[in-house]
Amino acid sequence: MLDHAQNRPELPPEIARRRTFAIISHPDAGKTTLTEKFLLFGGAIQMAGQVRAKGEARRTRSDFMQMEKDRGISVSASAMSFDFGKYRFNLVDTPGHSDFSEDTYRTLTAVDAAVMVIDGAKGVESQTRKLFEVCRLRDLPILTFCNKMDRESRETFDIIDEIQQNLAIDVSPASWPIGRGADFLGCYDLLRNRLELMDRADRNKVGETIVLEGLDDPAMEAHIPPDLLGQLREEIEMARELLPALDPKSVREGHLSPIWFGSAINSFGVKELMDGIAAYAPEPQIQKSESRQIAPEEDKVTGFVFKVQANMDPKHRDRVAFVRLASGHFERGMKLLHVRSKKQMSVASPVLFLAADRELAEEAWAGDIIGIPNHGQLRIGDALSEGEALRFTGIPSFAPELLQACRAGDPMKAKHLDKALTQFAEEGAAKVFKPVFGSGFIVGVVGQLQYEVLASRIELEYGLPVRFEPTQFTSARWVAGDKLAVEKFTAANKQHMATDTDGDPVYMTRLQWDIDRVERDYPDIRLTSIKEMH
Ligand code: GDP
Repeated sequence: MLDHAQNRPELPPEIARRRTFAIISHPDAGKTTLTEKFLLFGGAIQMAGQVRAKGEARRTRSDFMQMEKDRGISVSASAMSFDFGKYRFNLVDTPGHSDFSEDTYRTLTAVDAAVMVIDGAKGVESQTRKLFEVCRLRDLPILTFCNKMDRESRETFDIIDEIQQNLAIDVSPASWPIGRGADFLGCYDLLRNRLELMDRADRNKVGETIVLEGLDDPAMEAHIPPDLLGQLREEIEMARELLPALDPKSVREGHLSPIWFGSAINSFGVKELMDGIAAYAPEPQIQKSESRQIAPEEDKVTGFVFKVQANMDPKHRDRVAFVRLASGHFERGMKLLHVRSKKQMSVASPVLFLAADRELAEEAWAGDIIGIPNHGQLRIGDALSEGEALRFTGIPSFAPELLQACRAGDPMKAKHLDKALTQFAEEGAAKVFKPVFGSGFIVGVVGQLQYEVLASRIELEYGLPVRFEPTQFTSARWVAGDKLAVEKFTAANKQHMATDTDGDPVYMTRLQWDIDRVERDYPDIRLTSIKEMH
């Protein structure tokens, strides 16, 4: 295992050993396969393939999940914990579909690093780029895994160049592939001067490792045909000259990404990547709140809700709030202050997502993700503490890119519609606006697919068929300014105005021209497309 360059020696060992990260990738690059192998090597499952099988069994539970399966997308993010050597990995899954980017964004507020998986034949694809940009906004350290090296892939230098050019981040090779496609033999481990050979016969077996004295070690000749060996030596020499060295500080600051080459399906390169996560992804980081910074080693427990998932079991209208612990040592049964309501909550049955199973968490530390079942008290952005009135910052809500009116198929059930939409707004699945003029609701989302998901969930969970219909509005902005100015503005623009589920004023727009007009005519009003949730 690589030596971990301990960045903050003051951290208690239980916190220092935690690595909380997400995997970002374009659909099909191999995220699921890599996750399975992580769990396999983390000792969490006996055989790769269980994640998928289990996922499918769970998904058949409801039509909504069926729809998710039919479309081959993962709507809901989940968290998994497993041990790797002396490390505790917390892997937070991000939804892959671009329509759910806001959810993804918030998921990334809960991690300290991201693993970017790219397909060696395809390079940087659109969804990878989008997700990367989100990581960049937060200066998240990024480790790259170039997958599917057992297939015909691009030239190694081309792949690295593309990442550097396209994503404007320096790349430093941690391993170097030998041969390509059918001739792919394995990698030279540049961090440890070892030869890693891939076993094509057994996909769950870790390949053979040959310890070498360096690139000139004659033992190489026994394993690599002369032409490939010559090419390898030449390429590595060039790489050492042209590419930056692996500087851990630069990785932590998000300027440099180490890259490993491998084949997830053949279990190849996965352990090296996991060693890399342990060594180069940071331990739980300091979190920001309005009043101060919160260090993970503080004694008192604090945490924030970054995701709410409702109806994990559709028979019970329960919800699970996913909480990232920002500091302290949490123990089951603890009483925590729910800052927004100023009420104490006894956290009696928190869930730790150990591998593929949900388990009751007896304890958890800063950096961990716990699930708290609740009946709707916990919302995205909420803070929990041992008494301090904290407000975490940086958990955003984005202005929707599509707006449609939502109507109940049965007008007698309009009340239920109110309830259903409020629930989805609190889950973060949609923005729900109540227009000042007229009746009904206007629902804002990022992608069209979300309307279909919402309609099917409202029907399934509330027995209420609904229709989504276009309106004259296309976008919405939150209105900020001093109270009097906002009141005056609202009164003068009633036909555009609505309130969101927190009661905050929202200006609905038809064209960019509407926004320009407000900016010109109301200098004391600010229209914003991002709102902090807390
Ligand atoms: P996801 O959509 O990113 O979760 O991708 P999956 O893990 O579901 O993988 C997509 C497809 O690529 C599946 O058919 C996998 O079996 C395949 N795949 C994953 N890793 C590799 C690999 O290393 N080599 C090859 N040849 N195929 C792979």
